Parts: sequence; C-alpha cells; structure tokens
Amino acid sequence: MDRRYERNILVEAIGDEGQQKLLQSKILVIGAGGLGSPVLYYLASAGVGTLGIIDHDVVDITNLQRQVLHRTADVGRHKAESAREKLEALNPDIKVNIYKEKFTLSNASELVQDYDFVIDCCDNYETKFLINDVCVGLGKAYSHGAALAMRGEVMTYTSGNACYRCIFGSEPNDGALPSSKQIGIVGAIAGTIGSIQAAEAIKYITGMEGLLTNRLLVFDGKIMSFQTLSVRQNSGCVCSKQ
Ligand SMILES: [Zn+2]
Repeated sequence: MDRRYERNILVEAIGDEGQQKLLQSKILVIGAGGLGSPVLYYLASAGVGTLGIIDHDVVDITNLQRQVLHRTADVGRHKAESAREKLEALNPDIKVNIYKEKFTLSNASELVQDYDFVIDCCDNYETKFLINDVCVGLGKAYSHGAALAMRGEVMTYTSGNACYRCIFGSEPNDGALPSSKQIGIVGAIAGTIGSIQAAEAIKYITGMEGLLTNRLLVFDGKIMSFQTLSVRQNSGCVCSKQ
C-alpha cells in the first residue's frame, strides 16, 4: 500500500481493509465553498477514490476568507474546476468528477445514485431540503452540515434514522432566516464543521460505529461548546414512509 496512507492504516478502526474501502468509495460533495473546502481536502488526502463535486458558482473575492480551496488567482473561475485542480495536485491517485451545474430536482437522483455517500455543503435551505428528500428516497446515507457567524451544526442520516426534515420540518420562507451574506461566517467555524463532516464520511465508509445518527451536533464557537441533541424519527415524516 502507498505510504501516503500509512497514518490512516495505523488507526485501528481503519487498517488496510478500511483504506481499501476508502480507495474504492465514491462520495458526492454538494458545494465547493466554506464547508466543501475542508471536506474535499480531507477526503482527497484520505484517498477517497472518487469525489464528485457539484457547484454552479464562480469564485468571488468575498469567498476567499473561508473557502480555502480557492486562491486569489481563481477569482472568476468555476469553483468546481478550481477545486478539482487543487485536489488532483494533492492526490493524483483519486478521480474527481465535476458538475458545473445547480443541484436541482431534475439532476439530483441521477447524481446521488452514483455515489456511496453524499455531503451537504450547500448554503441554502431549498437545496438542503432537496438533498435530504433525494437521499431519504434513495436510502442514501448523507451528512448534513451548516455554519453561520460563530455557530454550526452537523447530523448524519442513514436509512431508518431521523432525517433533516424530522427536525426542521419544511423549508423556511425566503428571508425568514439570516444568511452569511447578512450576518457573516468565520472561516475557522466553517472549517470545524466541514472537518466533522469529513470525519463522518470516513467513519461511514470504513464501517465505524458512533455516527451522528439520531443526534444533532450543535457547535457554538463563541463559547467553544459542542452539544449533541438527541433527535427522533418523526412518524409523519417522509423518512418513515420509506
Ligand atoms: Zn424524517
């Protein structure tokens, strides 16, 4: 085995077998921004064999304060292209598929079907609910993550457990909740949440226990507290009809 992965393999819960699983795995990351940057760096470096990146956006100067995949010279380039370039330079073993389009109802199922695990790194509620519903419908495990200002949250969905909709119900009205455009986001806070999402993906692929299923991890960076709230599958929810 490539010495590149020596420190992964030394981890008892991974070993040679777990590393093989990572190399054979396919993970779809929706959004190559503040959460997607750490997620993609850590999964690429860990040797996740195929990474899918979907992002329709181009790099803006205001992104660089937190979206560490992109550099000043990338301003104006497609985020998916900029991301692929950095990840391939980091680890030439892996394959990176990019989709320079929006994740919508019309392409969602086809994209998700192709991957073993999905990571929600997007920044809007419409897409978050869509990711949830598509993953629930296909029984696909995924990681939900969100970060804003000095706070963030993470939860992992696997079939038979509580989903994002069990907790949050339905999509908020436009403008009902603040966005990072209004109240900002500290890069290191997005980095913390993305790192946890990457760790959950690695745990899922290698078959480790202790996933954030039926638990919402809430991080408050202002007082440096992590809380895990127990959540239950809601009997009226889309996920319980699967
Ligand atoms: Zn649900």
